[in-house]
Amino acid sequence: MARYTDASCRLCRREGDKLFLKGQRCYSTKCAIARRSFVPGQHGQGRKKVSEYGLQLREKQKTKRFYGLLEKQFRLTFDRAVRMKGKTGENLLLLLELRMDNVVYRMGFAASRSQARQLVTHGHFLLNGKKADIPSMTLKAGDVISVHQGSRKSPAFENLSGMRPIPAWLSFDEETLTGKIVQIPSREEVDLEVKETLIVELYSK
Ligand code: SF4
Repeated sequence: MARYTDASCRLCRREGDKLFLKGQRCYSTKCAIARRSFVPGQHGQGRKKVSEYGLQLREKQKTKRFYGLLEKQFRLTFDRAVRMKGKTGENLLLLLELRMDNVVYRMGFAASRSQARQLVTHGHFLLNGKKADIPSMTLKAGDVISVHQGSRKSPAFENLSGMRPIPAWLSFDEETLTGKIVQIPSREEVDLEVKETLIVELYSK
């Protein structure tokens, strides 16, 4: 699967917001947003008037990068959101939030979404007792994620407690290394500050 391999902090600086792409570093004083909070590149510190299209594009890029997706995957997710009942923008965020890699990250199994994706791909997790190694799988309320028996002693699963607060729509038991989707998250529970309607407008052109 294709993935972004360039400097992660550039993406945050481009979007002018923390996207939490580098694990613990994002919570430290080394965070590039704290130290150089301007757009990277030669003209990064110049003030530019942003067009309507530019605003829509930035919201789309920010969301895509926050969840660590490339354009094709993101567009496919958007197309699924269009086919669902309800508001397309909220459906899009819901589908992104319920991805297997994101849920693993939110449960605190990994320091970043990219690490979560790698752990999933390497077959460390079970979904409802069955092997699940596809990061893009969409989960649902009641689904239970646990660590594969053979991976429980892996250093990746040591000292998980306190990595980040677990959202209210999830539960996590550190003793059994098991997490559950208690309920589907509402828009308010998705902690991404983005105007999703602008993404819908962009893709509706
Ligand atoms: Fe973004 Fe984390 Fe880098 Fe800060 S440290 S700029 S939040 S990736």
